[in-house]
Amino acid sequence: MGGGAVPRPGEVSLAHNGILFLDESPEFRRPVLDGLRQPLEDGYVVLTRVSASLRYPARFMLIAAMNPCPCGFYGSRSHECTCTPHQVRRYRARLSGPLQDRLDIHVEVPAVSVQELQGQEAAAETSAVILSRVVEARRRQVDRYAKDGIHTNAQLKPRLLKRYCGLDKPALDLLQQAMVKLGLSARAHGRILRVARTIADLAGAERIHAIHVAEAIQYRSLDRRLE
Ligand SMILES: [Zn+2]
Repeated sequence: MGGGAVPRPGEVSLAHNGILFLDESPEFRRPVLDGLRQPLEDGYVVLTRVSASLRYPARFMLIAAMNPCPCGFYGSRSHECTCTPHQVRRYRARLSGPLQDRLDIHVEVPAVSVQELQGQEAAAETSAVILSRVVEARRRQVDRYAKDGIHTNAQLKPRLLKRYCGLDKPALDLLQQAMVKLGLSARAHGRILRVARTIADLAGAERIHAIHVAEAIQYRSLDRRLE
């Protein structure tokens, strides 16, 4: 977070306008992880001293990696997980609910076999093709928010979220069902809308449809309870 006798900016500020990557994120101490909540919400961090309080910019993209369980094989097709359900729950709880809430996209990355790697190589899209789609989606956002003083979907505050992320009936029904079934928070609701808006932008769609909402809901896997 920053600090010291002569205050200095910490990693969250050094990552301003860039990426902050936490590998093995549950291994970080709880106060460190909880300290990420303010910068993730507000884009700055406040260091309080006896004499003064200092404010450093800290607007970063957080990428947090974690294993599915302490042994690493929960859900694996090739290895057996040796953890008890209690151990798995305790491990995942190290990333608190409020912090998990603030992550836009949860992605499960299963281990890939050598055969699969070789088989898919030819069919995969090139980075250049993906880049052009991303650039186009960013351009749509810059154009859409030209009068609002923001330039990405991630920056949509509740008032603008209402204006730009309106849903048709099927999309609305789907989201409401998911909210109840997965027990999602109001914050997760806003995250789903922003991510759905981005998925629609990547698809070149003017409006958010049920298919975009469905994909955005899939990225809330940490919100689902363990079976
Ligand atoms: Zn395990």
